[in-house]
Amino acid sequence: MPRTIIRGGIIVTASASYRADVLIDGEQILGTVKDATLIPGDRVIDASDCYVLPGIIDVHTHIKLDTGIYQTVDNWEIGTTTAAWGGVTTVIDFANQLPGMGFEEAIRKRQAEAASAVIDYGLHCFVTSLPYGQESELQKLLEMGVMSYKLFTTYRPNYYLEDSTILRVMQGAARYGGLVMVHCENDSMVTEATQALVAQGKTGLAYHGRARPVLAEEEAVNRILYLAEATGCKVYIVHCSSARSVEQVRRAVQRGVQAYCETCPQYLLLDESEYLGDRPEYFILQPPLRAREQNDALWKQVSMGTIDVISTDHCDYSLAQKRQSGDFTRTPGGLPGLETLLPLMYTHSVDKARLPLTGLVKLLCANPARIFGLDDRKGDIRAGLDADLVIYDPKPRTHLKADHLHNIAGYSPYEGRRLRGAVRTVLCRGELVIENRQFVGKAGYGKFVAGHA
Ligand SMILES: [Zn+2]
Repeated sequence: MPRTIIRGGIIVTASASYRADVLIDGEQILGTVKDATLIPGDRVIDASDCYVLPGIIDVHTHIKLDTGIYQTVDNWEIGTTTAAWGGVTTVIDFANQLPGMGFEEAIRKRQAEAASAVIDYGLHCFVTSLPYGQESELQKLLEMGVMSYKLFTTYRPNYYLEDSTILRVMQGAARYGGLVMVHCENDSMVTEATQALVAQGKTGLAYHGRARPVLAEEEAVNRILYLAEATGCKVYIVHCSSARSVEQVRRAVQRGVQAYCETCPQYLLLDESEYLGDRPEYFILQPPLRAREQNDALWKQVSMGTIDVISTDHCDYSLAQKRQSGDFTRTPGGLPGLETLLPLMYTHSVDKARLPLTGLVKLLCANPARIFGLDDRKGDIRAGLDADLVIYDPKPRTHLKADHLHNIAGYSPYEGRRLRGAVRTVLCRGELVIENRQFVGKAGYGKFVAGHA
């Protein structure tokens, strides 16, 4: 197989940025070198005046999601194509353990659905039940390359787990080395706030944020960190929308807890005033958008390195689904975001000097790889790793238009936002997926990547 040389760009990893060429042999990076000497047959990809980044790893996506109530309108080809357009070369999505289903069946079923992926993917397992005494089942997941379990403290009856079950999953994770990811919202607080609004007939989308108070999130984060500390398991708090949630994770880490947290672009860039605007359906998600002050406080935590990962929680529900009922209790929650993650975060962190580009690479590539056990293959640009690379051109100044995106929601919560820079070319394991802003990927090229504990 001929070599590929990415020439003339500025390589940016989590630890350094320098001008060099990247040498690729087949699926892997051979190394980086200044002014590589070409040999006949080399394929050369020009990256002059561009950054060369590791492929983005989005560890929180819901491609072709079926909650049992709502189904997103995408499939794995669409979901991973929109990801590739955004410079994402690996997604870690979820396998859903449906009632009566064992873990292995859940994983196999999801891997079959993902067979049309155009980029690589890993899986977390939604654990919705774990019968007493069967904690060793968690080890089977690890053997299948699934090192992370997602638990919910809310959403009855499909996903909600009792604290006692959460405790046993954590004990199993501590024993076998897995990572426990938790959606934190105090269920009874959310249920009561929702029921109170419904009783007053306040079910319009404008009330969505009020149904899920920020204290419900913060309380559940506190409880989950306490249980993680007591069991000694590794824990990862998903989609923090409150600076206080993140602050609790920081304090837990100081006490020696192996705790991590993520936030998402929506909690950094959008706030609850959107619910009173004329398009509230664009912003229905759980946890909901918060007060404006949270954006600034979360950005500060991003800058300080207190937040480990920025992921999207991507859900490709269509605008028709979002508009169907006009009732927040019957509107599917979740926003599309895979394709806009890198350009939005580049614009708002690097271009606004909140973070150096190395810091953004840490949040979007290196930390996701390290925390989810992919660091032996992905998340960096060095010899022996998969040649997952993004050529990012920092020059274009554009505005985001949903019409130009490749998912099928038909809207973007960031419509009209200013963007700095654009993804030009993307490689996944040495193969071009996007070439000079043209999609050249293939359905089925993407492979399952196992996470190690
Ligand atoms: Zn999610």
